[in-house]
Amino acid sequence: MEIGFIGLGNMGAPMARNLAAAGHAVTGYDVAGVRVEGVTAAASAAAAAAGREAVVTMLPDGAILRQVYDDIVPVGAAGAVFIDCSTIDVDSARAAAAQAEAAGLLAVDAPVSGGVGGATAGTLTFMAGGSEAAFARAQPLFEVMGARAVHCGGAGAGQAAKICNNMLLGISMIGACEAFMLAERLGLDARALFDVVSTSSGSCWSVNTYCPVPGVGPTSPADNDYRPGFAATLMLKDLRLSQQAAGMAGAQTPLGAHAADLYAAFVAEDGAGRDFSAILPWLGGKSRSA
Ligand code: NAD
Repeated sequence: MEIGFIGLGNMGAPMARNLAAAGHAVTGYDVAGVRVEGVTAAASAAAAAAGREAVVTMLPDGAILRQVYDDIVPVGAAGAVFIDCSTIDVDSARAAAAQAEAAGLLAVDAPVSGGVGGATAGTLTFMAGGSEAAFARAQPLFEVMGARAVHCGGAGAGQAAKICNNMLLGISMIGACEAFMLAERLGLDARALFDVVSTSSGSCWSVNTYCPVPGVGPTSPADNDYRPGFAATLMLKDLRLSQQAAGMAGAQTPLGAHAADLYAAFVAEDGAGRDFSAILPWLGGKSRSA
């Protein structure tokens, strides 16, 4: 396929490289002038998108996505599929899809999980929102860039799935950290707690797969001095998106709100550049005041 790729950052560059390596003709653009092996560089977003059968965007936020769509939707080829893989607010995702569909294009919001490692290995999971026809057109590209694509529903459903999952992940990581910290204060060995929790009703991904305690459970960022992994700043971004969506939808998410506040404080004090599981030593350094 002839593919335009806009946003060649930490995630976009390896995704575009994998598409090119699979034999697709990829034309890329990034404001920072990034060059990617196998990808032809375009002078603008519009030049990367014009006439292509598929256009993938991997950008920082919804405001930037909207600006880029203002440039690329008018030059989209009739029937082309526009796939936005950025993590953005549900409102912007729906607006971008409506804009593309009004111009005769197919649109899919398809945020990912799997991080830079998954993008490089081509093992990302895509959470997709859009029509059946749009999802079917995007599927061959998902198969190159990822290991799994779940069609979650109409426009915005992919973003909704991503922020609901990551809100739960943020809450469960804080819960796991609180349990290990309390165990330590009670003189309970972290390995013993892991052995119990990982096979009991408290088991969850944050404990079983991504244990925040160094030297306990499978290898995780905790064993690598809390280098990301999944950066605390990205968790904070996703928690804020979840709270923005909850406000829009009138949904009560008190633990999601609290998790967002805790990650904001952690990132401001100590968490920038660290994995999101490093909230364990941060919490551990604090004492209960009441
Ligand atoms: P990044 O900052 O490394 O890359 C974003 C790129 O977009 C940059 O290279 C930037 O120059 C470019 N850009 C900004 N404005 C542009 C414009 N107007 N036109 C063209 N290019 C523009 O970020 P990333 O880590 O690659 O993440 C991209 C998206 O993926 C984000 O929405 C992020 O939340 C999401 N995400 C990231 C991860 C991760 O582990 N890094 C995991 C899952 C999802």
